[in-house]
Amino acid sequence: MTHEPEPATGPATDPPVARARELDAADPWAARARELDAADPLAGFRDRFEPAANVLAYLDGNSLGRPPRAAADRLAWFVREDWGGRLIRGWDEGWIDWPTELGDRIGRVALGAAAGQVVVADSTTVLLYKLARAALDAVTDADPARREIVLDTDNFPTDRYVLEGIAAERGARLRWIETDPADGVTPAQVRAAVGPATALVVFSHVAYRSGQLAEMDAITVAAHEAGAPALWDLSHSVGSVPVRLDELAVDAAVGCTYKYLCGGPGSPAFGYLAARHHDRWRQPVQGWFGSREPFEMGPGYQPGAGVRGLVSGTPPVLGMVALGCGLDLLAEAGIEAVRAKSRALTGFAVELADALLAPCGVRIASPRDPERRGGHLTVRRADFREMCARLWRRGVLPDFRAPDGIRIGLAPLSTSYGELYAGLRVLADLVAEE
Ligand SMILES: *Cc1c(COP(=O)(O)O)cnc(C)c1O
Repeated sequence: MTHEPEPATGPATDPPVARARELDAADPWAARARELDAADPLAGFRDRFEPAANVLAYLDGNSLGRPPRAAADRLAWFVREDWGGRLIRGWDEGWIDWPTELGDRIGRVALGAAAGQVVVADSTTVLLYKLARAALDAVTDADPARREIVLDTDNFPTDRYVLEGIAAERGARLRWIETDPADGVTPAQVRAAVGPATALVVFSHVAYRSGQLAEMDAITVAAHEAGAPALWDLSHSVGSVPVRLDELAVDAAVGCTYKYLCGGPGSPAFGYLAARHHDRWRQPVQGWFGSREPFEMGPGYQPGAGVRGLVSGTPPVLGMVALGCGLDLLAEAGIEAVRAKSRALTGFAVELADALLAPCGVRIASPRDPERRGGHLTVRRADFREMCARLWRRGVLPDFRAPDGIRIGLAPLSTSYGELYAGLRVLADLVAEE
């Protein structure tokens, strides 16, 4: 993720960049990477992203997606024509419907969600709060014995913090599942944790550290069998792993749009609320924009119809312009093709790590089975905090996750096999030097 203190990037002039650029023709791994790129049906998408000067390998597209080239023009056009030209009329002429229109698109392209259940708004943190509060209140209203939120110890910090806050606010209890960070939450653990006291279960689909892909189907069934709804955080799966929210009868979900969906830094989140809950779940931040008739400005709050009631204040329209460009690319490529390349990329990363890094004491802290893995891989060694800073200085940009993990994020539309190899070659050379 982007918010930890990170080492400063300097110009990538240290020797390994030059060395990696002229990859040895006799290097069998370089030949392998070239073959994989030549056979890649999505290879053409790389040119649809802005290039970055002095970056040898961008291995963090799971934290901040690269800008689609179309975004620059579309943003400039929007400022001039839409914002500049239409001014306040823009709201009536369309912006007001963007949260649900873009939500429907994300639902169709990436989430397996029928129209009318996804909205774009806020940040993931805020939408998670609103949906978890809505779920908890609806469930405890119907059955006051249900006061426990089930979550796991390795979920993303914001998810844990938000749920801690809600528990304190509502007098609910948290029921923690201890997870192995390299493995992640299992259906058996969830079955053992849920029961007649469960109000809600909240998990991440793809674990932010290990990349473990949780069994959304079996875990959602386990929650439902115990009588509780399931809320999923899709931040690290949306746009990388196909999701089937309607088919699996998921109750609610949230996720980021600045990761694989390439909406740009701080682009708004999306929230999914299954249609069957629209009448009963009430989110707590009752703002004018989510009310039935925002421009009537009436005396009391009446929630807007359907998923629109999840909105609170004025939607972040600029952030949605670039998001539209990211969604265009994903729709054109197709999520199944993206997933196929994602598996192949992480598979190649595993092979490279086994061959080049393991002999130097580097461990893979992600599932080896591609069925159990999302779009990124974490490798660990005691000195990797400093190592990550050295990589950044050489134009290789993964990210560091405490205590000792380098996370290799592989965005299928913008990452080539050659780029992945070039980055891991630099890392391999550095770890071999030590
Ligand atoms: C990236 C990420 C977030 C980020 O939330 P923001 O509100 O956008 O800062 C939340 N949850 C998970 C699982 C993430 O990976």
